[in-house]
Amino acid sequence: MPRSEPIKAVRGVRDILPTERPLWRVAETAAGEIARRFGYEEIVTPVIEHAELIERAGDDSDAFVKELYRFEDRGGRTLALRPEATAGVVRAYFEGGLYQEPQPSRLFLVGPMFRYDRPQKGRYRQFYQLDVEAIGSANAGLDAEVIELARDWLTELGLGNLRLELNSIGDSKCRPAYLEELKNYYRPLKEKLSADSQARLERNPLRLLDSKSDEDAPFKANAPRITDHLCDECSAHWEQVRRILDSAAIEYVLNPYLVRGLDYYTRTVFEFYPGGATGQQDALGGGGRYDGLAEAEGWPPTPAGGFASGLDRVTDLMSSSREEVIARPAADVLVLPDGDLAVEAAEVARICRAVRSVQVDYDPRSTKAKMRSANKLGAKWVVLLTAEGAQSRTAQLRDMTSREQAEVSWSDLADRLA
Ligand code: AMP
Repeated sequence: MPRSEPIKAVRGVRDILPTERPLWRVAETAAGEIARRFGYEEIVTPVIEHAELIERAGDDSDAFVKELYRFEDRGGRTLALRPEATAGVVRAYFEGGLYQEPQPSRLFLVGPMFRYDRPQKGRYRQFYQLDVEAIGSANAGLDAEVIELARDWLTELGLGNLRLELNSIGDSKCRPAYLEELKNYYRPLKEKLSADSQARLERNPLRLLDSKSDEDAPFKANAPRITDHLCDECSAHWEQVRRILDSAAIEYVLNPYLVRGLDYYTRTVFEFYPGGATGQQDALGGGGRYDGLAEAEGWPPTPAGGFASGLDRVTDLMSSSREEVIARPAADVLVLPDGDLAVEAAEVARICRAVRSVQVDYDPRSTKAKMRSANKLGAKWVVLLTAEGAQSRTAQLRDMTSREQAEVSWSDLADRLA
């Protein structure tokens, strides 16, 4: 029989191997600790949602809708693997009755997201995000708060050299008039614009501002800026966000081209980049206000804001900036039976496990060969077990650092290892 080909991982996804996992754990633990320090509570939502929920939360100009993993389940429902967390978290806020609690609800989530994107370095089809949302308040303090939380988290991870880009895109009161002005500016230039921008000019002119196309680049500088066209409320909000950021000594760059294409995004938008990098490719995270999303999902109008950051990129940068990564052995203690002593070795391991992490080497190799593995594993102690020792319920405890070895009774092992 010909051997069949081994089945490899799906294109665009990857495994996080045990050697990489400690770094991820540092990032996740810090996320949880810092989020809690700001009074955010963890929420877990399913990775599958009705496709319609996601599609209502975006439109076909949004990458996350174009790249949606969309499928029919066995019951004929059209479902999607979530491409981002916000739509689901807002759904859960209403379905779970969180709106009845003191507002705003401050929530965070860490989990996998899925986008059918072209895989490349730093861009995966299954990737992970830290998502932070404050739902149920329109206060500018919250816009600044999620930015401060993101900054504190990235700084804690050694990625404090950041560039924060900030903009306000107004709201349903002031944006329509601005969009007219933007269209009036671009219409005479239409023939010179990229094909994408030509198509978007009437439908979604804001997106012309974040076009990456060289053809569009020369016309941006003179385009009208939304921050010059904010209504009084949006203007006051914008000023307040910046005042709080200033008082937190958070530096930012005003980027008039930082926009979101959908009506339900309002006011503050921001993105974090590693210091020095330019271009959207390298964004570590971003967010802002989405006061119109709840309504777009069919719930009562509810102001909210938040941010999301990609853990794949964050951990990648951590590993290049912090080489001293927490190399911990899989186990502190290795129990090494000499011969056929599986039952006894398991018992000794059980005793040691009360105080230490323990592995048993059940392999029937020579003790010498097994000692070599113990060294490789990086175990701090080896417990050598012989048939004679098993009779008298004793073992040799070897300290792998000092290389000292002594006979210890099983009942004393936990004390000696503690
Ligand atoms: P977005 O929801 O598109 O604003 O993305 C927020 C963050 O998630 C980005 O800044 C990235 O760090 C990360 N991210 C988005 N898409 C991917 C992807 N395909 N692979 C890895 N990280 C991603």
